[in-house]
Amino acid sequence: MQTILSQRLQDVANYIPTGARLLDVGSDHAYLPIYLMEKGLIDFAIAGEVVKGPYDSAVTNVASSGLSDKIQVRLANGLAAFEEADDISVITICGMGGYLISDILENGRAKLTNVDRLILQPNNREDELRDWLGRNGFKIIAEKIMTENDKFYEIMVVEPGQMDLDARELRFGPYLLQEKSQVFKAKWQRELGKLESALSHVPESHEDDRSAISQKIQAIKEAINES
Ligand code: SAM
Repeated sequence: MQTILSQRLQDVANYIPTGARLLDVGSDHAYLPIYLMEKGLIDFAIAGEVVKGPYDSAVTNVASSGLSDKIQVRLANGLAAFEEADDISVITICGMGGYLISDILENGRAKLTNVDRLILQPNNREDELRDWLGRNGFKIIAEKIMTENDKFYEIMVVEPGQMDLDARELRFGPYLLQEKSQVFKAKWQRELGKLESALSHVPESHEDDRSAISQKIQAIKEAINES
């Protein structure tokens, strides 16, 4: 039976170059590597998982897919899952917080020198991740925002290079800000609603708090062209 991915992971898969040697960090069920291998889109994969339960389910799924010779499941923390000899060209890190993704990259920074592309899908704190990338010799070459099950997800395609983002680009994403898609507007409209509700509960006497929230509201309105 062919593996079917969530639309979120399908969107990630679309950015993986054909013939890649993939490390999927936090692979959980190993769905992404199995899907790509079944389609003949990648040559070799490591499914890295730090927690025993998800690691075991990844092992079971890879074994039942009959792909154990091409997908290795390794119990490891972050980038400790691969060695130079694995010749990994692409790393995916998806479905985790932006801070955790930055931390995983930071802890394995020295191992990233021979990697061609990172595809990152943070669940939150996207700005912190963009900031880490810019300070560590990486540039975003493409971004996508999508929605599934009433949640919004941002996907960043990253390669070695230079990038100098201003505060707005860090927050909203340089390409997403340019594109201003309907999904982008919907995400930030929702955020705007939360902030306006929060502001209505802050007493007039708390001027600093009100001013901080008002600035965030204004930045969002500008980003979605509604100021
Ligand atoms: N990547 C899959 C996806 O996007 O659907 C699974 C996402 S799941 C929410 C996050 C997974 O990352 C969990 O299975 C968790 O155990 C694993 N994880 C968290 N920190 C990790 C780390 N430092 N190294 C490897 N795996 C990690």
